[in-house]
Amino acid sequence: MADHSLVLALALTVRHDGQGGVADDLGGPEGLTAWVREHAAALESDAGVDGFAADAFTADEEALAAVRALRAAVRALFARAVRPDPPSPADAQRLLPVGMALEVLNSAAAAVPTVPHLEWSEGRDPYAVHRGTGAPDAVTALCAALARAAVGFLAGPDREKLRACHAPRCVRYFLKEHPRQEWCRPSCGNRARVARHQRRHQLHDGS
Ligand SMILES: [Zn+2]
Repeated sequence: MADHSLVLALALTVRHDGQGGVADDLGGPEGLTAWVREHAAALESDAGVDGFAADAFTADEEALAAVRALRAAVRALFARAVRPDPPSPADAQRLLPVGMALEVLNSAAAAVPTVPHLEWSEGRDPYAVHRGTGAPDAVTALCAALARAAVGFLAGPDREKLRACHAPRCVRYFLKEHPRQEWCRPSCGNRARVARHQRRHQLHDGS
């Protein structure tokens, strides 16, 4: 039942820009509007909030600041989750303190009360979801849905699969799906091998 694509997707809005720097998909309100609509299905599913229509959401500066604060908290906790490995280099120099990150995440989740809700389709096992209730404004509902997705992931068994990719220029977090996986995707593995090869040659040239 656990689908952690939403919280990973939020973290991955910080990405490599293709030129050695870092780009931010949530650089302005229009970026957040596009991101929320793109992830509407996930935002309205299990962790959803009644009455929040993600596919009709339009972000403003307030929404942007709130979601960026939540993302900073998620990335700080991702950095803790991958220890003793180093965090993604994108923000390793300016991570929120863990206590503050927990506070941001927990208060966003607490802003919308939830009720248990039983799902049971024909031929499947029943399961409980915790749906948001009350009548929160859209920003509160959005942040609560994201925060609950993050809480579910960080408190669950898949947290142990989280890794930061340390291929040259990559800043992605990913879930390690098989024991020998070292990189977030094959192209990162190729770049890392090339870089290793070049380093070896430079060492030889220098000797
Ligand atoms: Zn990578």
